[in-house]
Amino acid sequence: MQKNNKIKKILIANRGEIAIRVSQTAKEMGIKTVSLYTEEELNLPHKSYSDESYNLGSGPLKDTYLNQDKIIDIAKKCGADAIHPGYGFLSEKSSFAKKVKEAGLIFIGPSPESIDLMGDKKTSKIKIQELGVPSIPGYHGDNQEMSHLIKEAHKIGFPVLIKASAGGGGKGMRIVFNENEFQAALEGAKREALNAFSDDTVLLEKYITSPRHIEIQVMSDQHGNHTHLFERECSIQRRYQKILEESPSPAVSPELRSRMTEAALKITKGINYEGAGTIELILDTDGSFYFLEMNTRLQVEHPVTEMVTGLDLVKLQIMVAQGDKLPYIQSDIKQRGHAIEVRLYAEDPDNDFLPSIGTIKKIGKSSVRDTRLDCGYVDGNVVTISFDPMLAKLISWGESRDSATKKLNLALNEILFLGLKTNRDYLKRILTLPEFKEGLTFTHFVKTYEAGLKPKEPNQEHLALAVAAYLFNSQEMTGPKQIFNKTTTAWENLSGFRNI
Ligand code: ADP
Ligand code: ADP
Ligand code: MG
Repeated sequence: MQKNNKIKKILIANRGEIAIRVSQTAKEMGIKTVSLYTEEELNLPHKSYSDESYNLGSGPLKDTYLNQDKIIDIAKKCGADAIHPGYGFLSEKSSFAKKVKEAGLIFIGPSPESIDLMGDKKTSKIKIQELGVPSIPGYHGDNQEMSHLIKEAHKIGFPVLIKASAGGGGKGMRIVFNENEFQAALEGAKREALNAFSDDTVLLEKYITSPRHIEIQVMSDQHGNHTHLFERECSIQRRYQKILEESPSPAVSPELRSRMTEAALKITKGINYEGAGTIELILDTDGSFYFLEMNTRLQVEHPVTEMVTGLDLVKLQIMVAQGDKLPYIQSDIKQRGHAIEVRLYAEDPDNDFLPSIGTIKKIGKSSVRDTRLDCGYVDGNVVTISFDPMLAKLISWGESRDSATKKLNLALNEILFLGLKTNRDYLKRILTLPEFKEGLTFTHFVKTYEAGLKPKEPNQEHLALAVAAYLFNSQEMTGPKQIFNKTTTAWENLSGFRNI
């Protein structure tokens, strides 16, 4: 690309912490930023963090953050020359990437063809097999008849996992232990998938009983340079969604790391990928690993990689999108020290992780060295059910895993979201669990150590709330509200950030 194609103004088609994150880097690069907000987000900081901001109105997501035409229209009217989609929302919609290009704008992400190929679990697995990268044994065929799927499940061997082909965020996924459970599980997975992705195609996979989730960050430019930025381990999950991520993984030896990163590069080279992406792998106890899926966007947990490599992933995304060459070669990149991220959610870990809502009375500040808080809220903001319940990400860096853990734990003492129920104390309990220290981080961590992760002392959040109520002496403060009772499927209602 020519020099005059340098990006001058970026519209960020997202909200919250990631919108702020993208704006920060753009500003550092001397690029103007444009943010979007809805009627209920007038006081959110991402609105004012940019040079300009536009109101998307109100109503369901399809009328706001998922309204492709409205967003492209705003970008054209305000003279933006590029759109950054963040994560979730339109980030993995190939139709959006295509429309952005057709409008003469730069999409900060891979080509629509790459999104199409890798965004679907079924088509990506077929491609991956062609490239000679191992994927989990399973059935990815077109025949969706129940009797056929049952036959295939027997061939794979129970337990099997039914997955929505278009799936994401843990939705449309069911474990099946025997044939008797199959019908109900299939119907449930299809219902959920249709609801969330308007597509009920499923695939079957062998269920790996003690896996770890290891993913490789990749970065490629438009000149055929393909690099990896090492691994992140994201095994600690609830509802198949990550809550703690770290790099390096305590389970990955240098030899395993080189096999995994080699497999990741085989994929990016094989599909001629451009931009940032993540190759998710499942690691089995015997050291074998399988391709799980590829996320063709910036990942929620990218700060962990930034802290161990010293790179700015958003900057690299912008550079690559405007046609620059990657400013480094593979051997320049080193994994230095250890970084851990925890996701702070407005939810109740003692009540099946049900999302909660409320007004944030006060957010604590951390003075602990080498920590970073990526947060989409300020004091006084209201957390509603309209969006994902993630409040912030807290990331720490240390020379060793132990020192990163200690710093994160200290910082968590100070990062308090007064006014609503959060998972902060739960995250602290994870960090202090002996099994975490030993690196026994399998995907069933939360279930396996359920007893050890229960509160041992009076709930600190409750104590804090009592103090807050006293300090603020506010009439309207009624404490944390539980928005769903246990029998409703709160997570299904939160269709939130995935493509609908
Ligand atoms: P994965 O990328 O493995 O699916 P992530 O936890 O990174 O897992 O994200 C799950 C999905 O939910 C992704 O589509 C992500 O973009 C979206 N998501 C998660 N948290 C948020 C958030 N706070 N704001 C917007 N989208 C989110
Ligand atoms: P999503 O798009 O929702 O992120 P993934 O396919 O990435 O879906 O899977 C999410 C999580 O589900 C994984 O991180 C892992 O914990 C679990 N999982 C997925 N596939 C398997 C499998 N075949 N066996 C065991 N666990 C799995
Ligand atoms: Mg995934």
